[in-house]
Amino acid sequence: MELETIIGLEVHAQMNTKSKMFCGCNNDAWGKEANTTVCPVCMGHPGSLPVVNKAVIEKAVRSSVALGCVVNEKSHFDRKNYFYPDLPTGYQISQYKDPLASHGSVKFSVTDPKTNLSVPGVCRIHRLHIENDAGKLMHRTGYTLCDYNRAGTPLMEIVTEPDLRSAREASAFAEELRRILINAGTSEADMYKGMMRFDASISLRPKGEEKLYPRIEIKNLNSFKALEKALLYQETMLKKLWNEGKQPTGETTVGWIDDEEKTVLLRDKESAADYRYFPEPDIPPLHISESFVAAVVSGLAKLPSEMKAGYVSLGLTEAEAEMLIDQEVLRERFDAIEKAIREPKRASSIVLTQMPGFLTSHGKTLADAPSIANMVELAKAIHSGTINVNAGKDVLEKMIVSEKSASTIIKEEGMGQVNDETTLKAFMKEAIAANPKAIASFREGKTAALGAVVGTVMKLSKGQADAAKVNELLLKELIT
Ligand SMILES: [Zn+2]
Repeated sequence: MELETIIGLEVHAQMNTKSKMFCGCNNDAWGKEANTTVCPVCMGHPGSLPVVNKAVIEKAVRSSVALGCVVNEKSHFDRKNYFYPDLPTGYQISQYKDPLASHGSVKFSVTDPKTNLSVPGVCRIHRLHIENDAGKLMHRTGYTLCDYNRAGTPLMEIVTEPDLRSAREASAFAEELRRILINAGTSEADMYKGMMRFDASISLRPKGEEKLYPRIEIKNLNSFKALEKALLYQETMLKKLWNEGKQPTGETTVGWIDDEEKTVLLRDKESAADYRYFPEPDIPPLHISESFVAAVVSGLAKLPSEMKAGYVSLGLTEAEAEMLIDQEVLRERFDAIEKAIREPKRASSIVLTQMPGFLTSHGKTLADAPSIANMVELAKAIHSGTINVNAGKDVLEKMIVSEKSASTIIKEEGMGQVNDETTLKAFMKEAIAANPKAIASFREGKTAALGAVVGTVMKLSKGQADAAKVNELLLKELIT
């Protein structure tokens, strides 16, 4: 039987607001001493009341628009009640019935492993809602520690439709989603710091059927690799069951054990009734006006997919375009150089190949890259012919080592390209005298023989002669 894989994702992304969702505590808990960025509100002390952080709503609306969602004019918060030691209030403030936004879609592309070609895909977004994060538990031998610094951090939960058809598609979509949120400036989405986490649902069905079968939900996937591996693992298990005629009868929740590369049964899935959702009584419903959404839309940068199309139309490869989208340091320098010299290939060679290469070979990182102005100065010097391409590479390396500007290095090293006719002609005279055989061959019609003469000029000028101009002058001199 030919089976089709059906995958949907729930993505939690921490928002990068300065303060937490309902209180003034520092939202950046990374590296802070445990339980130091907390207050009575995020600790759920009796008598404390939550106040919605406007920046959370603004950033969530911004993300919703970037994901092509409709921002609902009315939405409200609900209490999701459950007991767990990392949840000091005993309930999470989430949006259950009326989410902030819905009906979006994300375009992504996935590389076909057989052809190596990039295939476009679309995944619809069912909803985006906002809720607060819980604290963190650290299990030790015989006891558990609680750190509530993260309690109250604003989260976006983004739920997709079951539109993804393979583990590879799921991770390609998740990577594009991450790019969109970073680009919209709403989440740092740092996977290493757990700022973006996935729950994935997977089921199979006979190809051609429309019906969905009970799914397996995989919890707590913290990297694209884990997401892809866990889905492949469950897909194999499900295929085996189906082929034995034992398709799953109920929904199951499993957890992914990264080290062992397998899943373990967590619990039977809770239903909404288990959480006893009810409208949050301490927070009034949200009304989001059209003008608020319009203001957010006007401030939104281009989508990564639009940026990518723009770079590809300049002649860059998809991989080069993705490097620019993912690394602001590279993008800023490429954009500035391209604007100044209108030579995309030269700009990408300098910014994407030479600069990272020299940084790495000198034990530096992208953070040590020469300033945008310095890089533009270098590119202009090459573009205008002040220095040739090879001298340009030397200058760039020296810029990285000495942190001096391109013009300072060119001046100090006397690297300016020689294109003054009198000087070039003096070199040419010497070169012609030194290459009688080549000149004779040239006169017999072997144009290529001139290469040796140009080579001598380059040697005499210590590589600084403008080779194209030397060629032109030589032809003029020898033919007339
Ligand atoms: Zn607080």
